[in-house]
Amino acid sequence: RLPTVAIVGRPNVGKSTLFNRLVGKRVALVDDRPGVTRDRREGDAKLLGLEFRLFDTAGFEDEDPSSLPGRMRRQTEAAVGDADVALFLIDGRQGVTPLDEEIARWLREQETPVIIAANKAEGRAGESGRLEAYALGLGEPLALSAEHGEGTVDLFEALRPFV
Ligand code: GDP
Ligand code: MG
Repeated sequence: RLPTVAIVGRPNVGKSTLFNRLVGKRVALVDDRPGVTRDRREGDAKLLGLEFRLFDTAGFEDEDPSSLPGRMRRQTEAAVGDADVALFLIDGRQGVTPLDEEIARWLREQETPVIIAANKAEGRAGESGRLEAYALGLGEPLALSAEHGEGTVDLFEALRPFV
């Protein structure tokens, strides 16, 4: 069985975009509107020779993104519980939000190891958001751009011990 990685984070941070890039197919729906990923999607991902099973979650997405509704959240709990590592995305351009803090607090209580990354960080756009993310207490944040394919080598190195 392949090692498993679950992408988690609040709506609109680029989870499905990263999923599609790593799985290499347009499997997950990408949309400007929060909350469009209703299902837990999975696919076989490849990254510089690493192979793993990747889950795109929507557990923190809802009509009211400031709430953590039980039904959707349980999907994420299941995905993270089953995963060898969770990849927690924030939006590097927006910086850390209260919902990011809430998700981080929950992730810190889980046994699954967490890699934290500031997405939308093409060029140096996400650097201040990435630095803010140290305060979430989940280790050194990576800089990623799912849309532009930046940060691939750092992501590879962060994932390698777990997959
Ligand atoms: P999700 O809700 O977390 O699954 O986010 P999506 O993957 O649906 O992306 C939400 C929006 O962010 C879409 O408009 C994407 O095109 C955009 N997006 C995703 N990744 C990046 C990125 O690396 N840079 C920029 N600038 N936009 C991105
Ligand atoms: Mg999505």
